[in-house]
Amino acid sequence: MPPTPDVRAAAARRRHDSATLRVGGMTPLTTIDFPGRLAAVVFCQGCPWRCGYCHNQDLLDAGAPSAVAWTDVLAFLQTRQGLLDGVVFSGGEPTLQAALAGAIADVRARGFEVALHTAGMYPDRLAAILPRLDWIGLDLKAPLHRYDAMTRVPGSGERAWESLRRWLASGVAGECRTTWHAGLFDIAELHALAQRIAALGVTHWALQACRGSGASASLDRRDIDRLASHFSSFTLRKA
Ligand code: SF4
Repeated sequence: MPPTPDVRAAAARRRHDSATLRVGGMTPLTTIDFPGRLAAVVFCQGCPWRCGYCHNQDLLDAGAPSAVAWTDVLAFLQTRQGLLDGVVFSGGEPTLQAALAGAIADVRARGFEVALHTAGMYPDRLAAILPRLDWIGLDLKAPLHRYDAMTRVPGSGERAWESLRRWLASGVAGECRTTWHAGLFDIAELHALAQRIAALGVTHWALQACRGSGASASLDRRDIDRLASHFSSFTLRKA
């Protein structure tokens, strides 16, 4: 029996959805999310991980409809040619969506540079788009053995650490970033983490120390100097 118009329409909608980036929100101008560039930030909808400290709860639901149509994002970018240098894909988790590669192509075709913020949960997808990125902020959350408890997803650590390796092998500019407070893992593990990622080739590490947990108080000057000593560029952000 041939499909009914309703079934055909539903199938067409699904094809459209998988071809079009779902956007949870947009920041029209940032000076800090893409170093050295004036950029817009596109917050991609959906993330399969459930980190306890996530500040983007509204963006986690992968089934939520797009708050901003991708065509509207492109129309906005059209008005910013010559004013903005680039576009940052953030989230949620941008690499969750198959439509990300097409969205990057759309943005590059309009003359913008592209940055990606990712937790590295899909190493193969990341490897496929790395050649089309100008900058990456890779969120490395923890030592491998701490990951699953933090993200509440088995196997998440292997994926993130593999993404780190793939990014470093690519030579794409960027930073590795870690959010930390003493309730996540202890300072000795933080030092070990810094040593490990430096040994793998990370040169720029951003440590986002959460306040309110007493974390910044427990990181003294000596800790900070020791952590920074592993990298040619080190940023301490207090969240
Ligand atoms: S990976 Fe990022 S967006 Fe996803 S739950 Fe964790 S902190 Fe939130």
